[in-house]
Amino acid sequence: MRVIRADAVITGDADVVRDGAVVVDGRGEVVDVGPADDILPRHAGASIERARGALLPGLVNAHTHLELSALSGHVPGGAGFVPWVEHMIGARVEVSPEEDTAAIDRAVADLDAFGTVAVGEVTNSLAAVHALARRGLVGCVFHEVFGVERGSVERRIAELPRVLEERVGAWPTAALGYAPSPHTLYTTHASAVRGLVSDARDRGLRVSVHLAEHAAERSYLERGEGPIPGWYASRLKLPRESLEWPGKSPVAFADELGALAPHVLCVHLTDARPEELELVARRGAPVVFCPRSNLYIETRLPPLLAARAAGILPALGTDSLASNASLDVLAEARALADRFPTVPARDLVRMATWEGARALGLTDVGRIARGARPGLFVVEGDPGDDPCAFVLEHLRAPRRWVSRREGGAS
Ligand SMILES: [Zn+2]
Repeated sequence: MRVIRADAVITGDADVVRDGAVVVDGRGEVVDVGPADDILPRHAGASIERARGALLPGLVNAHTHLELSALSGHVPGGAGFVPWVEHMIGARVEVSPEEDTAAIDRAVADLDAFGTVAVGEVTNSLAAVHALARRGLVGCVFHEVFGVERGSVERRIAELPRVLEERVGAWPTAALGYAPSPHTLYTTHASAVRGLVSDARDRGLRVSVHLAEHAAERSYLERGEGPIPGWYASRLKLPRESLEWPGKSPVAFADELGALAPHVLCVHLTDARPEELELVARRGAPVVFCPRSNLYIETRLPPLLAARAAGILPALGTDSLASNASLDVLAEARALADRFPTVPARDLVRMATWEGARALGLTDVGRIARGARPGLFVVEGDPGDDPCAFVLEHLRAPRRWVSRREGGAS
């Protein structure tokens, strides 16, 4: 049993405890947490470790694409989604990022160094699965399914078990879930979206979908217009006459397909309107915002205030290094803090911890609570009056793990 006393304990899901203490067992499970004055007498005789700074639960990066890590610095942004994706596809051919295991290993090591314990990894290639398992990260691997033609996407889904066997072999750890997931509602055929979502629900799994990410998605799904039909024609050789679109907004279409549900992570919602966010909230679908990726690609921010007004407290993700400077989910919270000064720092840190865990369906990470095994790290320094603001203002302050989940990284 170890007792860790810190200037501030940021619990993730509840209050911040000034001069707090956390008791953990050999597996990293939290046995007790609270004000040091209460905790220390209850565990008299145990040696006390002193952490100078703010103690946090391991972070949760609820949306990333580690397989693209080698594209860091290769894909220019700022011109909108379709130009970004065109650049990304071009760079991807040249760089073959999924084959660059060193870049993936570095990215996973970075996640660990930032204090991350759990991820939602969205992948085509499954290239990061073993690296995540080796580092002891937990969470979900979402295997993306693409295809706008029904027959070919259904064949692709039928082949997934073989692909999984070929690329991963025996699944390395029960701490990482696996679920085939639709990429978007305009790149994955509606019948496949419906099937993947209902399969995951029946099997008790989470799935993930990029939803209402940008204006081009809306103009295509609502009216068959905008840059996407041209992109289909050039990329997929699909003639304009063959296209069918639902005539609905992305969020309304997601609802029709059963994809607004508590087990479906709705990622981005950057282009969602207030009444659409209210529908997402009513359906209980977890939401993940990736603000720095949105800023990079489109110089746009996710609608944090409207989401909060609708009763949504989103999780946070970094997206990939093809559209972001780092995989630090606290930097996402900071990006929001800078632009939404009315949102309390405490809520933003909660989004990077407990809301991420909730989105991924995990209850034992993202919070310092009895029975959880969150991994504990300290942000060193003087946490001042508002420890959550301190953490966001000092992204470069040293971060040090003080307790690992059992089986975690070295
Ligand atoms: Zn993404």
